[in-house]
Amino acid sequence: MDSSIDIYRNSIENYSIDIHFMTQNTPFGSPLGTNTKSQANRLQSGLQNIEQVNLCRVLSRAQKFILQEIARKILKQMQIRTTKNHPEGYKTFVHRVNYCLRCRIDSKKGVGVRINEERGTAHYDNLQRCGSVWTCAPCSGEITEVRKIELKQGIDNWRKKSGHVYLVTLTNRHHFGDDLGDLLKGQQKALVKLWGQRAVKEMLATLGYVGRITATEVTWSFDNGWHPHFHLLVFFDHEINAQGLQTFMANEWRNACRKAGLKLPSMERGVDVRDGTYADQYVAKWGLEHELTKGHVKKGRGESLTPFDLLRQYPESPELFGDLFREFADTFKGKRQLVWTKGLKELLAVDEKTDEEIIFETEKESILINELAGEIWELLVKYQQRAEYLEAIEKDYADNGDRAYQLVLKLANFYAKEIEENLA
Ligand SMILES: [Zn+2]
Repeated sequence: MDSSIDIYRNSIENYSIDIHFMTQNTPFGSPLGTNTKSQANRLQSGLQNIEQVNLCRVLSRAQKFILQEIARKILKQMQIRTTKNHPEGYKTFVHRVNYCLRCRIDSKKGVGVRINEERGTAHYDNLQRCGSVWTCAPCSGEITEVRKIELKQGIDNWRKKSGHVYLVTLTNRHHFGDDLGDLLKGQQKALVKLWGQRAVKEMLATLGYVGRITATEVTWSFDNGWHPHFHLLVFFDHEINAQGLQTFMANEWRNACRKAGLKLPSMERGVDVRDGTYADQYVAKWGLEHELTKGHVKKGRGESLTPFDLLRQYPESPELFGDLFREFADTFKGKRQLVWTKGLKELLAVDEKTDEEIIFETEKESILINELAGEIWELLVKYQQRAEYLEAIEKDYADNGDRAYQLVLKLANFYAKEIEENLA
């Protein structure tokens, strides 16, 4: 529908989200609008704290929709899917981010617009969600915020029981040009080997080990290519010697890497064990929301890029970053981001919640204030105004304005004019 997406660079003074998407013909110029710019200037002159929080939230949402548009543009692979109702099969996108917050669940109904009265935040209803923490910024943002609270809660609960937690990072040697799929497969194999080794099991038992949470991450850099790695929060029932564990684990990790056919990490760099304060810092920075607040800081050529950084850099070099993101998305599809060992959630008194439950849960605590007819929704999608419409709804809700209506009217007029010009 919007094959004519064009990207251009622009910067908002002092709040530089430096990628803007726009359709070739847009009634607005920038999807973030001049509004955001004037807000950014007001930020300088000193906003009330609450307004700043709101502004950051609005900007973060706008960024997430922009990143989703870019991901969708890159992930165009199709597959044939067969179901009971379609035994002959039909064509779908491999990556469901293409449908997320875009296609309706029930096509006979309109798109609901709901508001959480307490928070004054708006969202859509009756739209498909992809639930991908890897490729979809809106889904990733929602899921990782809840997961982060769970991590924090788990650590707090464990400490209340006089328990201890350590941050363990496992890496292995990698080079530019290494295949991401091979690296990840090898590392996962090594990880299974590591925890299965008899010496490791015996050592952990003597140290009072109770369980671990494994977070899989990947970055990419011009110097070294793909760098998948693991951060683990490891729980013990009493204090341990971090340096001692590191020395022991370094040797065992090398053994595990050897068995998995990976390039061996050095004794010094393969394993890093840190105490609880580092575990806290790691959790505080974990998740997409934190990444987005840092996202406007432009990264240099030597720095590591996260997958969402690849999307941000996409306009600079679409072919390079598009190919990298596609490779990442294909490799990580269906992989879990956080894995808790069996029984740990129960021990740390943390709820078992699926990604889907997280995404659809927020909608329960809200009221329906509008239902957009399919045609109007298509306009918001076509002109990439999904985030802007929510912002207008939130402002209208606060002061009884008619911004949302005016926005739709403007789009409708613009669309009518476009058709007229095409016919002429
Ligand atoms: Zn999604």
